[in-house]
Amino acid sequence: MTGRPEILFPLFAGADTLKGVGPKTAQNLAQIGLDTPRDLVFSLPHSVLDRRRRASIKGLELPAIATVEVEIGSHVPARNRGGAYRINVSDQEVEFQLLFFHGRSRYLEAQCPEGSRRLVSGKVELFDGVAQMVHPDHILPLVEAKDIPLFEPVYPLTHGVTQKTMRKAVQSALQRLPELDEWIDPGQAKREGWPGWNAAVTAVHHPEGLDDLAAEAPARTRLAYDELFAHQLTLALARQVERKSRGIVSIATGRLQAPVLAALPYKPTGAQARAIDEITKDMAADRRMNRLLQGDVGSGKTLVAFMALLAAVEAGGQGVMMAPTGILAQQHYEGLRPLAEQAGVVLELLTGRDKGAERRAKLAALAAGDIQILVGTHAVFQQDVAFRALRLAVVDEQHRFGVRQRMELAEKGKGADVLVMTATPIPRSLALAQYGDMDVSVLDEKPPGRKPVKTAVLSTERMAEVVDHLRQAIDEGRQCYWVCPLVGESEVMDLIAAEERFKHLRATLGEGTVGLVHGQMPPAEKDAAMQAFQSGACKVLVATTVIEVGVNVPNASIMVIERAEIFGLAQLHQLRGRVGRGSAQSTCLLMYQPPLSEGGRRRLEVLRESEDGFVISETDLQMRGAGDVIGTAQSGLPRFRIADLERQADLMAVAQSDARALLTTDPQLSSMRGRAARVLLWLMKQDQAIRLISVG
Ligand code: ADP
Ligand code: MG
Repeated sequence: MTGRPEILFPLFAGADTLKGVGPKTAQNLAQIGLDTPRDLVFSLPHSVLDRRRRASIKGLELPAIATVEVEIGSHVPARNRGGAYRINVSDQEVEFQLLFFHGRSRYLEAQCPEGSRRLVSGKVELFDGVAQMVHPDHILPLVEAKDIPLFEPVYPLTHGVTQKTMRKAVQSALQRLPELDEWIDPGQAKREGWPGWNAAVTAVHHPEGLDDLAAEAPARTRLAYDELFAHQLTLALARQVERKSRGIVSIATGRLQAPVLAALPYKPTGAQARAIDEITKDMAADRRMNRLLQGDVGSGKTLVAFMALLAAVEAGGQGVMMAPTGILAQQHYEGLRPLAEQAGVVLELLTGRDKGAERRAKLAALAAGDIQILVGTHAVFQQDVAFRALRLAVVDEQHRFGVRQRMELAEKGKGADVLVMTATPIPRSLALAQYGDMDVSVLDEKPPGRKPVKTAVLSTERMAEVVDHLRQAIDEGRQCYWVCPLVGESEVMDLIAAEERFKHLRATLGEGTVGLVHGQMPPAEKDAAMQAFQSGACKVLVATTVIEVGVNVPNASIMVIERAEIFGLAQLHQLRGRVGRGSAQSTCLLMYQPPLSEGGRRRLEVLRESEDGFVISETDLQMRGAGDVIGTAQSGLPRFRIADLERQADLMAVAQSDARALLTTDPQLSSMRGRAARVLLWLMKQDQAIRLISVG
């Protein structure tokens, strides 16, 4: 099966091929990411309107949605411009009014002739003691009454798509559902009482009450499981391919590691030693290593990675370490260079900034094996970057890289070991989602002598106090990060905010004391600003979140975060992790703009009370749900549309073992169930997994 199976074609056609969906509507739907009938089918209602018929609105607790049969009474056109057009109506018990603003009387008279009977549905409110239905959602002659479902699904919408349009589009997409063979293990489906796919999809769009919207409703659970299963199948396929491909045996001799360890001003922690040991053993095996190194900010992952890179060089090969941003690559490069010199190893930096002759020279040296360890950004992915003998690839701060990039990297290395590092402690269900294909080492111990960071939460109204405080701290030789948030849709506005803050602080604290760094700066300026801060020339670094991950300036002991309430927990934890790295007592000031929402207040409290990344991440998951925990645009975590990783955490573990079990008995997915699973992969747009089957 090399292309999408024909049975799925109707679901993958353009949305404008649907009945009732014109080009304009299709365009609007595309704006919210709904390009095909498939997308519509998988976009589930988040709530439901009860439109069960009542005899009368009498006795309703208003305001409320009501659906009643009425007799149309007199029309009262608007008395002035902007006034309401009223239609008096009566149901079996009481009289009330239908209200229309900007109502055109000709149209309304035709739609609701006096004396006729109509079914009306909409929100009824009490205004000056009179019950009114303002702009009814539905007004239908009785013969068409059945067009209003008893329970009407409500979809999450934006961008000029109305509920009505969405419902119509979904309904016509549902007309196209193909009959698909079952990919779920029959025993399991039966045990759980799950409907078949077709029935499940139909059911979720025809809820018959609030219960049907719960994550536990069988149809929803089934579709969530499909999503998780497809994802785990992809990971399991990747794992299968990796396990099959022979790895390179890289045996560490300690020849290079020993002098580096001897030169360090500290001893590795127990956790570091353990991780180094696990990695070294993995590298020495002839299976390709695919390992995750998980450790909170400041736990010392860089040293572990460097030891592994040295092992690759000791074994006669090369290593590459990739960081998500230029700043981080630069910093790794500078931090590791003295250590590399200790060991007599040639270390180079390759980023998008390398151009022309310089770049060509580096690439030549790399291909010749004259560069032994390369540090870089995504630039090391590029086609023309070739190694003589790549044995190990380290990816730092994995949450910015997805499974796909991991695969690309592995392809480049032709059997090279892969070590992925992440500073985001994540709950188990997420770990399974993101790293289900990997083995894991954990740094659960921080280097000794770290003092906890004091965290305070305060309102922006106390800005002047904070700045005063800062002046004092600077006089004592301390350094400070000042983070300005990305608030709005417009990056330009955000930069203006950061620049304003920069000017303001510079004016109060003195020229030369304050630096600025943000994502839109020319690289050279960015470097210069970071350099000045690292060297201590600059005392306060105003930054947008470019400093979020991995930056290491031990002398910086104050972290001010403006508008902390709009940041995510994980992000705040990361940011705070930038301080508390030296011997001085560190402080983190979380400034919020009042009034603080309930959620905002809780987030900031969690942070004030805990420095344990794991505790913070579990809370984060509970508060926000999985999609958002690591769910930035560049996140490696797939966005599950249906599955709820918090409430359906157990499903993920089942999906993983089921996916692995299926591949054990049917590695080519050629059995009946295997073929159905292929269709699922296409349906879930896991095309890359399909490629893996052909590899395998
Ligand atoms: P992260 O895990 O966040 O990447 P780093 O590798 O940047 O952490 O290490 C943070 C700081 O801790 C660095 O300054 C590093 O030199 C220092 N460090 C690493 N290991 C130890 C150790 N065993 N003892 C003391 N300091 C250490
Ligand atoms: Mg790091």
